[in-house]
Amino acid sequence: MNEYDVAIVGGGAAGLSAALVLARARRAVVVIDAGAPRNAPAAHMQGFLSRDGLPPSELLAAGREEVAGYGGHLRSGTVSAVRPLHDEGGGFEVALADGSSVTARRVLVTTGLRDELPDLPGVRERWGRDLLHCPYCHGHEVREQRLGVLGGTPDAVQHALLLRQWSHDVVFFAHTTTITPVEREQLLARAVGVVEGPVRGLVVEDDRLAGVELDTGRVVRRDAVFVRPPMTPNADLLAALGCDTHDTGWVVADPAGRTTVPGVWVAGNAVNPRAQVITAAGEGSAAAIAINTDLVDEDVRLAVRDFRAGRPA
Ligand SMILES: Cc1cc2nc3c(=O)[nH]c(=O)nc-3n(C[C@H](O)[C@H](O)[C@H](O)COP(=O)(O)OP(=O)(O)OC[C@H]3O[C@@H](n4cnc5c(N)ncnc54)[C@H](O)[C@@H]3O)c2cc1C
Repeated sequence: MNEYDVAIVGGGAAGLSAALVLARARRAVVVIDAGAPRNAPAAHMQGFLSRDGLPPSELLAAGREEVAGYGGHLRSGTVSAVRPLHDEGGGFEVALADGSSVTARRVLVTTGLRDELPDLPGVRERWGRDLLHCPYCHGHEVREQRLGVLGGTPDAVQHALLLRQWSHDVVFFAHTTTITPVEREQLLARAVGVVEGPVRGLVVEDDRLAGVELDTGRVVRRDAVFVRPPMTPNADLLAALGCDTHDTGWVVADPAGRTTVPGVWVAGNAVNPRAQVITAAGEGSAAAIAINTDLVDEDVRLAVRDFRAGRPA
């Protein structure tokens, strides 16, 4: 007999939102969280209706309190493996790195993703502060300031053209990007400055980003710099379970988060790189409702089996 109906791996917006819905559906639910949400470096979370500007940690603290208020269990820790149980009841063993484990009928993976930041001086230090990635998250706060966009990653030119929406003063630092003639015309037409040549690093003064330094030693003063890092899903657990992936490496899932392995679900940035906090929360909620429906179907099937065998509930 499984301890929990649902074990949720990852307690960010997606995982906690799913836990809230499941706990309110009177399911036994546990959230196991390693405590490193993607937006932790940012002081404020923007664009979440009714919570715009709230520190990310405060949203999660409120979420944890709500989940606990409905009897959901919250555990700190890192899940190291999820293994199918092959006894009659089925379900999964969810193993933690500390050697403990829980069992659950269904598993929802909401482990988020990793931003693969360029390996340049200043980048890690300023990430989420004045080295930014998402203009929808932080563009308004730096509107009409001197902005830069760091090249060298896929779609970097498109990112510079996007940023132009927030400021008239945008410089694209090509770094290792080769700009095509079409892109060059687009940048010129939108009055985005172009600085060619490899970037040596970010210049930091008084705990603020001050500019971008080129290999030549030239420094271009900027107030904030954007970069579009490649993103890698934290999907090792799903891969080990045998979940199918797309060619891109992202797990295949239906709109409710159902993977190709029965009983295993996924939501938030672990499956959707475009998910903002509010989207991740919405995906967690949708997955929770689908999981509960799946459990109800199983409950009915088992009840009919027992009923026919003369074992009424
Ligand atoms: C710097 C920065 C600023 C951002 N600002 C905004 C903003 O202003 N507004 C906005 O809408 N979006 C913003 N985002 C995007 C936002 O971070 C994501 O949309 C959101 O975090 C996705 O939620 P999630 O629950 O899918 O993943 P996460 O919030 O990343 O949560 C995943 C959780 O799973 C845990 N975990 C991972 N692996 C395991 C494991 N094996 N075992 C147990 N736990 C595990 C992690 O520790 C983490 O706590 C920002 C992103 C960055 C990088």
